[in-house]
Amino acid sequence: MKNHAPHLHHLSLGLALALVLAAPAPSRAQEADSESRTHHRLFVGDHAEGVVRAFDLETGAGAEAGMFRIDASPALSRSDSGRTVFAVQGDRGRVAAIASGLAFEDHGDHADLSVDAAKLLPTVIEGTTPAHLVEGSGRLALFDDGTGDVTLFREADLLAGPWRPRRVKTGPAHHGLAAPMGDHLVVSVPGADPSAPRAGLKVLDRDGVQVGGITPCPGVHGQAQSARTFAFGCRDGIVVATPGENGGAPTLTHIGTQALGEGNVSTLKGGTAMRFFLGNYGPRAVVVIEPGADRPFLKVDLPTRRVDFALDPAKARNAYILTEDGDLHVLDVLDGRIARSARITEPYSMDGHWRDARPRLAVAGDRIALTDPRAGLVRLVSTDTLEETGTIAVPGTPYTIVSVGGSGAAH
Ligand code: ZN
Ligand code: ZN
Repeated sequence: MKNHAPHLHHLSLGLALALVLAAPAPSRAQEADSESRTHHRLFVGDHAEGVVRAFDLETGAGAEAGMFRIDASPALSRSDSGRTVFAVQGDRGRVAAIASGLAFEDHGDHADLSVDAAKLLPTVIEGTTPAHLVEGSGRLALFDDGTGDVTLFREADLLAGPWRPRRVKTGPAHHGLAAPMGDHLVVSVPGADPSAPRAGLKVLDRDGVQVGGITPCPGVHGQAQSARTFAFGCRDGIVVATPGENGGAPTLTHIGTQALGEGNVSTLKGGTAMRFFLGNYGPRAVVVIEPGADRPFLKVDLPTRRVDFALDPAKARNAYILTEDGDLHVLDVLDGRIARSARITEPYSMDGHWRDARPRLAVAGDRIALTDPRAGLVRLVSTDTLEETGTIAVPGTPYTIVSVGGSGAAH
């Protein structure tokens, strides 16, 4: 890894820069006379049934904080603010939304954290086969694979009702995605016929009119945002979209990954306090991506195949990776080294169907929350020591998981 020294320097430099660029993170209370409150809430989707369960980590050992019945086993995601948890049920053509009950209110030098009951919202987003849901510039874009249409909405409107989303036609149906950037949308472009791989990405303006040409990104899949920049995975590299100046269209740049060898990026996570991305690279590696650097890619080989990975929003240089042997690894994204590993679960082979029940990770403060479907548990593991600090027994088969919450003032 010696030859990565310049990269390390650049990314460390980026840390100071990106702290300014990043959206304000929920911070500890600054006022001496106000009480500090820390609260983390987990939402766990069942693998077989249309059920989402919520658990509070601060009140007792994982007290159940709600059980929500929906139509089908959900893919869970959360909004950037953490106020909303989305349960995408692609096969049923529906997306349910749960108000998490946790909200941060910006008070300038600190944020207040309010804690209410989680509740299933009456609004259901209907479609044919909704899949990727992407947030950017204060809007959420849900791509419908069955129609090629995008449903655009603001979180506040969803939470308040009545429901008036915008629908944008982007072209033929395909497994696609749309990323809001300012008034523009970056949208995937299907291949010439349904059997051909997706071709690339295009930019639509606020009226849905295409701006410029198509940026090639064969097989485009996976996206993440970091410091207002988006990255998208392609079979031969990534495409980076940087915001345009003065409300102009974003600029799309393709960066090839051929030098990294066999594999490609198809899932991405974006750093919150630093501008970087972490992507998969084939089944047995991940890649730290720093757009604009001399060496934008730092590939990290893993001992066995990867099951899931997550970034730590607070400890910015930590990423957590679970591999199929049941080991959880702490990756230092600054130097690309596995800093620590510990056995957490029984092995979960990556052979078999991609949708088989395997663990998923979320980060809740100083704990990694990891579903263990076979054991019927959520395991809580210290981000510092990788020691298991507790478990939550979950009925059914716990599978997908998201975490909301943090620290704020209560006054
Ligand atoms: Zn306050
Ligand atoms: Zn997908």
